[in-house]
Amino acid sequence: MMSQQMQQQGYFGEFGGSFVPPELQEVMNYLSEQFYKFKDDPEFNEELRYYLREYVGRESPLTYAERLSDIWGGAKIYLKREDLNHTGAHKINNAIGQILLAKRMGAKRIIAETGAGQHGVATATACAMFDMECVIYMGAEDTRRQALNVFRMELLGATVVPVSKGQGRLKDAVDEALNDLVKNYQNTFYLLGSAVGPHPFPTMVKHFQSIISDESRRQILEKEGRLPDGVIACVGGGSNAIGAFAHYIDEPTVRLIGVEPDQAPTLTQGVPSVIHGFKCLVLLDEQGEPRKTYSIAAGLDYPGIGPEHSHLKVSGRAEYVTITNEEVLEAFQELSRTEGIIPALESAHAVAYAKKLAPTMRKDQILIVNLSGRGDKDVEQVFQMLKK
Ligand SMILES: *Cc1c(COP(=O)(O)O)cnc(C)c1O
Repeated sequence: MMSQQMQQQGYFGEFGGSFVPPELQEVMNYLSEQFYKFKDDPEFNEELRYYLREYVGRESPLTYAERLSDIWGGAKIYLKREDLNHTGAHKINNAIGQILLAKRMGAKRIIAETGAGQHGVATATACAMFDMECVIYMGAEDTRRQALNVFRMELLGATVVPVSKGQGRLKDAVDEALNDLVKNYQNTFYLLGSAVGPHPFPTMVKHFQSIISDESRRQILEKEGRLPDGVIACVGGGSNAIGAFAHYIDEPTVRLIGVEPDQAPTLTQGVPSVIHGFKCLVLLDEQGEPRKTYSIAAGLDYPGIGPEHSHLKVSGRAEYVTITNEEVLEAFQELSRTEGIIPALESAHAVAYAKKLAPTMRKDQILIVNLSGRGDKDVEQVFQMLKK
């Protein structure tokens, strides 16, 4: 009975669920039980609010981009400034939330997977502050490409384990982390980085990232006295976007728009399939294997997508669009030049689509663009790309 109920909790239409071996399912059931126990607990939430305020620096501003709005000549553009969080992106919201849960569950050891290293750095940061042992699994190939992020994690006291099995990429790191969890679940907590994976992860990550739209909704009502006409966010696994959408999903007048790289168009071209223990839209090749994706923004390079986005797409509640690398690079530079804000390449996807949409809208309409992170990490890469 209990497990059937939890199964249903983990579904978004036909998507989501938990497709894992029985020993891992037991761990997921326990995690689910603990998450639902603490998520509305007043003491838990007081502690969470404390760290989000004192450590992450929330709330983050909702900045009116006056010059950009003028130049584009349509809707008023507001930027939700997740780039101003400690560590420079939204990922820390989720890392702090999950680590507080891990503490409540008595875990002494945190493990995580990371692709480009950004989630590994957020996790290592939170572990340093909460004095937790931290082990980060990373594809061997990725440890070479992202040597500086490996060093960051080590500086923060984490152990980075290169995974050379398989292709030595993110998927293989996820498998290793799951093996570790099954062996060590009694003292270990797996801190997952995006709104993906078996239930309860997508629901839990959404819960901790919903602070983004909780704040932006209050902020836009204060500034404009009404809800926005649209919210735009980039989509990798989907955590910043689901957090930015959450408090508008039941407001049919607010358009929800997710932006993907045109070389990883999971939502625009994916088909229903099971990947990493859950059902979602997946990009498959002719052999029916997850397609190799590529993005200039490492954080968007993932062949699957959170189950709730899959459902929002199929049900028509949210729209998903693609943007080219050229448009991203242009948006990256334009936001820097006009507003003095260098965005992460991931976030520049959302800015690039706002640039297309805003001029088609009236001047009294409002768009919120979620600026998921800052671009310091990308400056050297953009420098190399622009030199060519
Ligand atoms: C990791 C990352 C993303 C993509 O992850 P989501 O889970 O889709 O949000 C987007 N922007 C930045 C700055 C990131 O670090």
